[in-house]
Amino acid sequence: MALSGIEIYKLLPQTNCKDCGFPTCLAFAMKLAAKQVELSDCPHVSEEAQAKLAESAQPPVRLVTLSANGHEVQAGNEVVMFRHEKTFYHKPGIFVRLRDDEGAEEIKTKVAAADAYTINYVGMDLTLDGFAVQSVSGDVAAFVAAIEAIRSASQRPLILIASKLEVIEAGLKALEGETPLVYAADESNWEAMADLAAQHKAALVVAAESLDGLADLTQKIKEKGVEDLVLDHKGRSLGQSLTLSTQIRRLALKQNFRPLGYPLIALLEGSGDPGMEAMYAAQAIAKYAGFVVIDHFSPETAYALLVLRENIYTDPQKPIQVAPGLYEINDPKADDPLLVTTNFSITYFSVANEVESTGLPAWLLVADAEGMSVLTAWAAGKFDAERIAKDVKRFEAESKVNNKRIVLPGHVAVLSGELEEELPDWQVLVGPREAIDIPAYMKQAL
Ligand code: SF4
Repeated sequence: MALSGIEIYKLLPQTNCKDCGFPTCLAFAMKLAAKQVELSDCPHVSEEAQAKLAESAQPPVRLVTLSANGHEVQAGNEVVMFRHEKTFYHKPGIFVRLRDDEGAEEIKTKVAAADAYTINYVGMDLTLDGFAVQSVSGDVAAFVAAIEAIRSASQRPLILIASKLEVIEAGLKALEGETPLVYAADESNWEAMADLAAQHKAALVVAAESLDGLADLTQKIKEKGVEDLVLDHKGRSLGQSLTLSTQIRRLALKQNFRPLGYPLIALLEGSGDPGMEAMYAAQAIAKYAGFVVIDHFSPETAYALLVLRENIYTDPQKPIQVAPGLYEINDPKADDPLLVTTNFSITYFSVANEVESTGLPAWLLVADAEGMSVLTAWAAGKFDAERIAKDVKRFEAESKVNNKRIVLPGHVAVLSGELEEELPDWQVLVGPREAIDIPAYMKQAL
């Protein structure tokens, strides 16, 4: 059972030394009870107290790691229902499913395309995470052949899906040294599946039609020594899936109900329509899957899902930033203009991409606005004439640009007078409000 804040407080040193960043031990204890801090933040807890607090310090949703050949996918360890409360930590792994009756060449072609897919989104390379292989034939040799075909085109982690134990066992043997995810233990086979997972150190999906059934199975399997479990609540419609996923997350976080404190898998079974499948996958990413298995890979769907996932799994309190500095676009020379923007990633990439698309050379001063967009930073006092002038000097723009023209974003035209005072040698121009209008502006005005 989880300990209350007061019970935790009694186990702390009670010196109020503030080394944890909180003014009192009681304040720290309350935060620890709410899973908002780590026990390790207090360096003075005795070993005896640590042992007693271990249960409370455990994450309410267990962290499960799949690994293969240097690739790793982690799910779980989440502490909040909504990302604005803190953040979501481990992005759900997105897996593409193959079937063992598709033929080796077909599998290789599909896997190679999905494996190679990468998109660069605001400076980050996003990729899919792995593959699921399903036994349709029930044949051991066909299953192993399908795994080998996947491995010839990708080294990413795998999910093994089969109902026959001998098929799963053969798959696990073929992947010795890796940590795959096995699908699935249910009421009829859980003991044998748990033995296989324990023997091969694999993670195991537990599937049941009800939450009671799931909780019962996870406890029995845990007693057999398998800790890395993933839950399939079998809710296959959008409504069912949303309801059950939310109930499980709520029970794990709010009631600290350990039997359901595991990541979820969303197996988008039997959806022949790629559009519907993308909707199911989007919902699963938002609420609250740790592993998402899709049947159809296409660049347009993968792009949408990966960007959605990235946006949900970023810390809302820490904007994605690029390093402030003076960036060169299209090989600028000393007579080319200097444009200014802020270091919020999306702002930077929007502006940089538009300038690049013109083919015209320019300097881009990315001012340190603490990762905020132009208007937000201006409203917060983080993007003003003084800061811009300071960064012009800090990044030595004056020694690189002869023709001293500096272009402000149109949204902060109000800064132009002050910037002229800060940079008396420069001609201050006001550019467009939106990045999309930069090409026309550069061709006409610069
Ligand atoms: S660091 Fe530990 S002992 Fe010091 S105030 Fe925080 S909880 Fe108390």
